[in-house]
Amino acid sequence: MNLILLGAPGAGKGTQAEVICDALKIPTISTGNMLRAAVKEGTEYGLKAKAAMDAGDLVSDDIVIGILKDRIAQDDCKNGFILDGFPRTVPQAQALDTMGVKIDKVVEIYVADETIQQRLSGRRVCEGCGNSYHIDFKPTKVEGICDACGAKTVIRKDDEPATVIDRLKTYHEKTAPLKDYYAKQGKLVTVEGQEEVSETSKLTLKAIEG
Ligand code: AMP
Repeated sequence: MNLILLGAPGAGKGTQAEVICDALKIPTISTGNMLRAAVKEGTEYGLKAKAAMDAGDLVSDDIVIGILKDRIAQDDCKNGFILDGFPRTVPQAQALDTMGVKIDKVVEIYVADETIQQRLSGRRVCEGCGNSYHIDFKPTKVEGICDACGAKTVIRKDDEPATVIDRLKTYHEKTAPLKDYYAKQGKLVTVEGQEEVSETSKLTLKAIEG
């Protein structure tokens, strides 16, 4: 099954991707994580992407489409995959269609902007493996240390409050039109993000089965 998770930054797509990944045993592809890794490694496209990411803007379509294309060609994607954070623009969605990638369902995780702003201020990510935590909703066992790899957890630069406002604006302008794009194809299902993550997860799994 090929799935897309759609939603504003901080709506909880990453967490829901983990839940689906466990249930369906298909990999999650997060373009955000791949770009952050490229920035850290200082690769050519990492250097190009960094300024846009720090400012809360989108990285150019050609860079993101290129890395996505290489990733879904890998062996572990043969039985399906979950796209977390891709597509983010209509041209990116069109690129998937052009590549002949058949999308089965698009799950939108809906959370109001004000809630997102509160949530992102508590988000922490691991410097080592990129795992995501939240100081209230998904704390690490030891404060400031990643449960999975033991590296330090930090506030992402683009989770700073001013950048979050820009990221939400970008989402509404450039990504939200994808809802219409996929609704017209009869593929869009919307899940309302709940206060309890486990409740959202139940709704997500039901949306995929249904
Ligand atoms: P994320 O972790 O998904 O919130 O992504 C972090 C940042 O990476 C975004 O704010 C963008 O700057 C960039 N990014 C990730 N995925 C994409 C994409 N599909 N298109 C353009 N930029 C992206």
